[in-house]
Amino acid sequence: MDWKVPLADLDFGEEEEAAVLKVLRSRWLTMGESTQEFENKFATFLGAKHAFALSNATEALHLACLALGIGVGDEVIIPSLTFVATANAVLYTGARVRFADILGAHDLTISPQDIENQISPQTKAIMVMHYGGFPCQMQAIKEIAQEHDLYIIEDNAHAPGASLNEIMLGTWGDVGCFSFFSNKNLAVGEGGMLVTNRDDVAEKVRRLRSHGMTSLTWDRHKGHAYSYDVVELGYNYRIDEMRSALGIVQLQKLTSNNAKREQITRRYRQALSNTGIGLPFCDVIGKPAYHIFPILLPEGVDRQLFIERMKEYRIQTSIHYPPIHTFQYYRQHYPGISLEKTEAAAKQEVTLPLFPTMSAEDVDLVVSAVCASL
Ligand SMILES: *Cc1c(COP(=O)(O)O)cnc(C)c1O
Repeated sequence: MDWKVPLADLDFGEEEEAAVLKVLRSRWLTMGESTQEFENKFATFLGAKHAFALSNATEALHLACLALGIGVGDEVIIPSLTFVATANAVLYTGARVRFADILGAHDLTISPQDIENQISPQTKAIMVMHYGGFPCQMQAIKEIAQEHDLYIIEDNAHAPGASLNEIMLGTWGDVGCFSFFSNKNLAVGEGGMLVTNRDDVAEKVRRLRSHGMTSLTWDRHKGHAYSYDVVELGYNYRIDEMRSALGIVQLQKLTSNNAKREQITRRYRQALSNTGIGLPFCDVIGKPAYHIFPILLPEGVDRQLFIERMKEYRIQTSIHYPPIHTFQYYRQHYPGISLEKTEAAAKQEVTLPLFPTMSAEDVDLVVSAVCASL
């Protein structure tokens, strides 16, 4: 499809190409200097003690659960209005999820009140997702976690560079998990990062990322070690040097690109106010990362028809998200769940194009197409 305005686009240039070429010519392709530099720079950027680059965020979420000792018999409270990986990662460990509702049409993040409603004697952790790059109510959630002795895992796939009360998202809880998938604010193709301030978690993640081994190829190459032991059941969740090199370049652009996303969001909001369209997150809390621009169609507007009309204008849209509890697999394993606010918002949600290289004219094109498609 030849989109006039795509949903997302990369901000890649000569720097990214040069970074990858340099790695190729170095002839060291995985878990080396670029990965260490990417991890160090990412940790510094967030003000976190430890950062581990992985091949995607789903692995980061999985390792977060494992490193916190979550497994069979445990429950993790999560939102349903998120990408399915948030829930899948919990299920990989043998634990179960409990779905909490969102705050409402004005704020699509998880409701602290409903988190409390879902707490049971089996609850081990709360996994929040900063929808669209907009901070969850972390102060309230942290208080609940402290009161009930629960861990907090942040699915920070949408929110690299976002903060709340001057504290970077991803460092509010015990573990923060980031995605560098192609359409995310920091893109490398497939990539992820796990950050934590906890030394015990870091030690486990370091081993679990690489087969449970006590030393790495890199250490042996450097002459630091010549053998290894395997002390637990680990995985191969490593990243390669090409993608770490891309990550370093993309990290340098992140703050200015997030600022561009904010400008575009403002232009959208101004143009779409008084159209009857619902605009979540109008009351900005903290400093969002503006990952996507979600709108809620007015009641009575047929979403499928709207999306088809937008397509006729060659404008790509998307839906964030079909709620997880409505998928067949989850209906089978978690029957009878209803989340009123999640379902109401998810039914009317459409995501409009948003990416840092989008021009003001692009925004205006999308806005006129939206008004003509209602
Ligand atoms: C993209 C995304 C993930 C998964 O990230 P991968 O790097 O593709 O594994 C998880 N959660 C949310 C909310 C996402 O948007």
